[in-house]
Amino acid sequence: MKIVVIGAGVVGLTTAYYLSRDGHSVVVIDADSGPGLRTSKANGSQLSYSFVAPLADPTVLRKLPSWLIGRDSPLRFHPRIDPEQWRWGLAFLSSCRLSKSQRTTSELLQLGMYSRELIHELVTREKPEFDFRSAGKLLIYQDPASYASALGQMRFQASLGCHQAELSRQACLDIEPALHAIGDSIAGGIFTPTEDVGDCMQFCIELERILRSAPIPVSFLLNTTVESLRTEVGQVACLQTSEGDISADAYVIANGIGAQTLARQVGIDVQVYPLKGFSLTYELTPDSQAPKTSVSDVRNKVVYARIGNRLRVAGMVDIGDTTASVNPDRVASLARDVEGFFPHLHAADVPSAWAGLRPARPDSKPIIGATPYQNLWLNVGHGALGFTLAAGSAGLLADQIAGRPSRIPRGMFALAHHTSDFQTCAGFSSINKRVA
Ligand SMILES: Cc1cc2nc3c(=O)[nH]c(=O)nc-3n(C[C@H](O)[C@H](O)[C@H](O)COP(=O)(O)OP(=O)(O)OC[C@H]3O[C@@H](n4cnc5c(N)ncnc54)[C@H](O)[C@@H]3O)c2cc1C
Repeated sequence: MKIVVIGAGVVGLTTAYYLSRDGHSVVVIDADSGPGLRTSKANGSQLSYSFVAPLADPTVLRKLPSWLIGRDSPLRFHPRIDPEQWRWGLAFLSSCRLSKSQRTTSELLQLGMYSRELIHELVTREKPEFDFRSAGKLLIYQDPASYASALGQMRFQASLGCHQAELSRQACLDIEPALHAIGDSIAGGIFTPTEDVGDCMQFCIELERILRSAPIPVSFLLNTTVESLRTEVGQVACLQTSEGDISADAYVIANGIGAQTLARQVGIDVQVYPLKGFSLTYELTPDSQAPKTSVSDVRNKVVYARIGNRLRVAGMVDIGDTTASVNPDRVASLARDVEGFFPHLHAADVPSAWAGLRPARPDSKPIIGATPYQNLWLNVGHGALGFTLAAGSAGLLADQIAGRPSRIPRGMFALAHHTSDFQTCAGFSSINKRVA
């Protein structure tokens, strides 16, 4: 089959990879001049397969007031006269139930573990160079109460097959000596040895190279914006793009935050909303006391990953700022977090700052699978976990397109499943009627 994948971020490219391996003739379309230039560009670099608990959990409601008032709070809410924002916010709050967040955690863990398996297989087979490393992940808690509650979550995840260890302050310092400056404030840590790191944008660049030289080479239509999908009785007839119409046997929407607009045009509500975050990248020097393990500062919700000779620091969730501008106050706040956590970083220069928009769904679950249109598929809404879940999501979608059984139950990330959960897909029943 000829299949067009819309989006050359990490999700679209991994989708193209598994479809190409299945023998399809694949075309990737992207509005940008190269791969991975939007949210996949300078993210936190974490392949954190075991850290998939949704943002929406029961503790959010308790923490919300302090997050919303605090100047340097890791979560900021910019209220707007925007029905999309309020609808997303209400769906998010309704996902903050314990039973819902535990079920989502268990489903995302399955996808995370599948992703880990596939990414390791891809790395062994294709040998892409993207500073991939099995670094392990160490979560540092400075507040005893939040550490106690995290141990509860750890025990829950252990019952689902996660291998994580509870660490004393000294054990944290033994694993990561660069933490010595804040040693006295550590209440405890949780270490997960199975987690990896890598440079997501470099992974995208390498995937483009691999795809272009595949046995059936994948073609790339860059600088090409998909403006709309032209449909006819129950299927997509062609894509209307800035460079003219493009037709194929099947189409995959995998264009990050752009999915909401594109899918909405054909009556599908994927409920993807941009959640803004920031990163800083420090060039290290021989004097740098930087972590080798991937470290998370739980109090400030900041993650640290060493990729090659750089330290990538990422964090913050800004709801309602949908621009990609790099806000100086947020970046300065992130830099202060770094100075507090690793005061002896001795970086080569001022760090490079970046902002990205996470394509987030209210319950943190991506939508992967079929639509009411028989030749239109979705791989969207990976939020804060797109790099981590990309390989598993793409593998699952390729299985579905091939009509073969998959490791992940078919309905788990399906559009219909989400629709019945939230009752929000206004167009779904009308499309079903049209298709039938
Ligand atoms: C600060 C921050 C830190 C993060 N850290 C991590 C992390 O450590 N680990 C992790 O797993 N995830 C992390 N994430 C999340 C991760 O980066 C995203 O989930 C992931 O990049 C989403 O990939 P994507 O391919 O869906 O979207 P994108 O990378 O945004 O790609 C979408 C592509 O579609 C193209 N496009 C859009 N609309 C159109 C159109 N109409 N026509 C043609 N092309 C179009 C865009 O140009 C773009 O190239 C982080 C995100 C942020 C913001």
